[in-house]
Amino acid sequence: MHQPSQKKAAVFLDRDGTIIEEVNYLRDPAQIQLIPTAIPALTLLQQHFPLVIITNQSGIARGYLSENQLHQIHDHLELLLGAADVHLTKIYYCPHHPKAGHLPYRQACACRKPQPGMLLAAADELDLDLARSFTIGDQLSDIAAGSNAGTHTILVRTGYGSKHQQRVAVEMSPDYVADDLWTAATWILGSPEYWPQIPI
Ligand SMILES: [Mg+2]
Ligand SMILES: [Zn+2]
Repeated sequence: MHQPSQKKAAVFLDRDGTIIEEVNYLRDPAQIQLIPTAIPALTLLQQHFPLVIITNQSGIARGYLSENQLHQIHDHLELLLGAADVHLTKIYYCPHHPKAGHLPYRQACACRKPQPGMLLAAADELDLDLARSFTIGDQLSDIAAGSNAGTHTILVRTGYGSKHQQRVAVEMSPDYVADDLWTAATWILGSPEYWPQIPI
C-alpha cells in the first residue's frame, strides 16, 4: 500500500533555563544542574518526538568559553540524560554575536535566536515538519525563533521565564505558558489537534 512520505514533528528545546538551571555563561560541565522535571518531561516527549536542543552560546564569541569546552559541556549533559535513558537527536548551537569578539564568531548570523536558522537547519538535516513541531524556551527570543520557523511555541516559567512572561502578549504570544518542562510536555501530549499522531 502506498504510504505518502511523512515528515516527523519534533520538539525544539532551549537549553539554559529550560532543561538545565540558568547559569550566566555556563562554562564548566560541573555547573550543569538539570531542572527537576526535565527527565520525566523528556522521557515522555521522546516517545513521540525527536528532541533537538537549540541554544545561543554567544559566550564563545565573547571569549568566555571555547567551542571545545562547549562540546565537553554537551557531552556531559548527554551523559546525564543518557543515564536516565533520555536521548537527544541533536544539539545545535549558535556561537556568534553581532558585536562581540572577532571573526568568525563576530557576525550578524542567521542562527542566533530569535533568528530561526538553527530550526531551519534541523528541519533540513533531520527531515522535520516545522508546522507540526513545537519550540519550548524560557525567553521571548526562543518563542520568536520558534514562531519565525513556523512551529508552535511554549514559554516555560523556569529560568528567565517568570520575567519574560510579563512581556507576553505585549511583544509576542506563545501558544501556551507552562510552569515548567513537565507541564509543557503534558500540554503537548494533550493537544492532539496540534500533532496528528504519526509514529516515529
Ligand atoms: Mg534559556
Ligand atoms: Zn549564529
